[in-house]
Amino acid sequence: MWRRATSFSPLISSFKSSFFSQEASQIKILEMFTTGIPLQEKGGTCPNRRAPFITFVLGGPGSGKGTQCAKIVDTFGLKHLSAGDLLRKEIASDSEYGSMILNTIREGKIVPSKVTVELLRREMESSDNYKFLIDGFPRSEENRRAFEEIMEAEPDIVLFFNCPEEEMVKRVLSRNQGRIDDNIDTVRKRLKVFEELNLPVIKHYAKRGKLHKINAVGTVDEIFEQVRLVFAPYERRLKEN
Ligand code: UDP
Ligand code: MG
Repeated sequence: MWRRATSFSPLISSFKSSFFSQEASQIKILEMFTTGIPLQEKGGTCPNRRAPFITFVLGGPGSGKGTQCAKIVDTFGLKHLSAGDLLRKEIASDSEYGSMILNTIREGKIVPSKVTVELLRREMESSDNYKFLIDGFPRSEENRRAFEEIMEAEPDIVLFFNCPEEEMVKRVLSRNQGRIDDNIDTVRKRLKVFEELNLPVIKHYAKRGKLHKINAVGTVDEIFEQVRLVFAPYERRLKEN
């Protein structure tokens, strides 16, 4: 199981929590989701933890992130964490954040980092896998900073599925998954948010030399051939358990 490797400094962010034990961590998450009270923790380290292997999957709505993620999981054994799916699950579970998340998604806006990062953190900490495929996140520079600060980790790979806008609109409107945000008005808003807030994240990782731009037009297999090449240099590390 992966646990965060470095020690904790006194809190920078109010909801950072300790990794001393799984139970302690779960109790704190529970506290946070039931009371909303910020968590305060002291620093410490955990032995026997390995560095996580993190891939971020970025791209506009309908750019094929989910489809390609399924193939990456099958081929390379990463644990798939779709930020959007985690948020939708949170709505369905009647959490205190449910209605806020629902309204945000309906408007095509971005849920506060505090909520999304906490959902991702919970999944990552409880996973037996140390290789994560984080789909549809980070969606803004603020998301990115929050993740890197709280998880004390940066991605190894950032995939960007580059797709023309009209193609994305066509795909979203024809996918029939029953999503409240797959309608023309919300799609237009999501595309605007993508350009304004997600493109800066893409630029950031391009500067850091981590961005892999994928041409997202073509058959699923054609697109996956480009993706496979990105993971090829990491194949040895990805085979470790
Ligand atoms: N969302 C968010 N933060 C995230 C991921 C998703 O706020 O980190 C919200 C946002 O409103 C977005 C919606 O969830 O428009 C759907 O996201 P998802 O990634 O499932 O959809 P996609 O953009 O891939 O169609
Ligand atoms: Mg998706």
